[in-house]
Amino acid sequence: MIVVMGVDSKNEEIEAVKNKLENVGFKTHLIYGVERIVIGAVGDKRFLPSLSLELMAGVKKIVHIMNPYKLVSKEVKEETIIKVGSATIGGKNLTVIAGPCAVESEDQLMAAARLVKASGATLLRGGAFKPRSSPYSFQGLQEEGLKILKIASHEYDLPIVTEVMNTKTVDLVAEYADVLQIGARNMQNFDLLKEVGHIKKPVIIKRGLCATLEEWLMAAEYVMSEGNYEVILCERGIRTFETATRNTLDLSIIPLIKETSHLPVIVDPSHATGNWKLVAPMAKGSLAVGAHGLMIEVHPNPNEALCDGNQSLTPENFHVLMGDLTKIHNLFH
Ligand code: PEP
Ligand code: MN
Repeated sequence: MIVVMGVDSKNEEIEAVKNKLENVGFKTHLIYGVERIVIGAVGDKRFLPSLSLELMAGVKKIVHIMNPYKLVSKEVKEETIIKVGSATIGGKNLTVIAGPCAVESEDQLMAAARLVKASGATLLRGGAFKPRSSPYSFQGLQEEGLKILKIASHEYDLPIVTEVMNTKTVDLVAEYADVLQIGARNMQNFDLLKEVGHIKKPVIIKRGLCATLEEWLMAAEYVMSEGNYEVILCERGIRTFETATRNTLDLSIIPLIKETSHLPVIVDPSHATGNWKLVAPMAKGSLAVGAHGLMIEVHPNPNEALCDGNQSLTPENFHVLMGDLTKIHNLFH
């Protein structure tokens, strides 16, 4: 349920409504929109009639949300815009998160950061903890990788996006990263989702390999229900019978998410296709269907990449793509 308050409602009025709800066991979430303030309330509905909330000062209306996802829902807020360092994610802004699959060395990451920044990327990606299908594959530089990311971030004024794989390392990753990424394989790791719900940094939730729209939104609901409202969704392809591509990019989910949720939604055409030649067309298509941005793997030398070289763009190809993406973005905004 949400209690819609006027934008001009007084702090005392908001507090009074929150207190009344909390006194009968509701958990409340205060969410500020442009045109209204909303108090999201989760709890036992049987108490509601006795509270007479609609008679309280500042209350405009009470809305019952039928969907299982509440705080992520469009009914709560028109749109979420997230500011992180020099970047703004959501709304009319074009977000491009670029960088290598994994941080391999300081030289490699600094070169990647310099080149993607020069082409217009707004955030830098790079995995320090890598979820690999084989235990014998490169697992990432771990804390050393985080330190390298921080150096590159300062040098090139690019906020960092990096994956956190388990609950034990959330505080460590949050110490260095500007945005924490929950990987596709962890989308339903509910303990991890709850843990990142307690930090004060934005979280990207990649769509699980076989996740439905509802399961994906419920993952975001987990994070928000713990009090972290800065969530970004990332479509990265789903498993189908098709083996010609690494995954199948589900572009139809983008307009559906935008209709259902106020959260920003971006697309990762690199992991979706597994093939650098398909990255540019899918990236352009993603913006045409309304994605707020992209996450793209770029390596200074893809042939030498320790991870996902086949799907990584060269800096030159990324530069050309950025020019096209800017044109498409301008066409729609
Ligand atoms: C990644 O972005 O580095 C990654 C491993 O992606 P996904 O979780 O989507 O497979
Ligand atoms: Mn990768």
